[in-house]
Amino acid sequence: MYNLILFGPPGAGKGTQAVKIAAQYGWKHISTGDILRSEVSRGTPLGLKVREVMDAGHLVSDELLIEIMESVFIGNSDAKGFVLDGFPRTLNQARELDRMLERYNRKVTRVLALTVDEEELVKRILKRAQEQGRLDDSEEAVKNRLIQYHHHTEPLIDYYKNAGIFRELYGIGTVEEIFDQLCTAIDA
Ligand code: AMP
Repeated sequence: MYNLILFGPPGAGKGTQAVKIAAQYGWKHISTGDILRSEVSRGTPLGLKVREVMDAGHLVSDELLIEIMESVFIGNSDAKGFVLDGFPRTLNQARELDRMLERYNRKVTRVLALTVDEEELVKRILKRAQEQGRLDDSEEAVKNRLIQYHHHTEPLIDYYKNAGIFRELYGIGTVEEIFDQLCTAIDA
């Protein structure tokens, strides 16, 4: 059972790579952003609750995210592995993830981070805004998402470094080049 966290700021290419990794290894891809966007577009009570927070580029509460992840694990108990994309994003979520996995006698196997400089990130996200029309890809929301990342998510780097499972890869190059580097790091 391999539990991989793909880590990095918004726009680093986690989503694209997570899909490819899941296909290659037969693991389940979990994107909390996709899960939340689907709730919003279906207009569910959860979706109504989180829509504004997401559109503004802020983080949804730890409590809701942990509930979502609990049901993901319950609903996928037969999965060979997970690629987590966009979770955890706070120290609280990281600690809770460890506790959740422990209940299933599992743990986070590896955290692979994609690093991309900030100017390139903003360029990529705004391009995606044009292509996909994501509401949280507006300039103001993008700024907020990067602030949230630096403030809440970056501290996880030390958390996972201390656990000895963190590895950083440079996220600039073709999709295939980065994918090859990720696979090498996964197999190592
Ligand atoms: P993403 O597609 O991963 O960039 O997520 C889009 C938005 O969903 C984020 O800007 C947050 O508002 C929300 N979101 C996704 N994952 C999380 C998380 N782990 N914790 C808090 N909010 C999240």
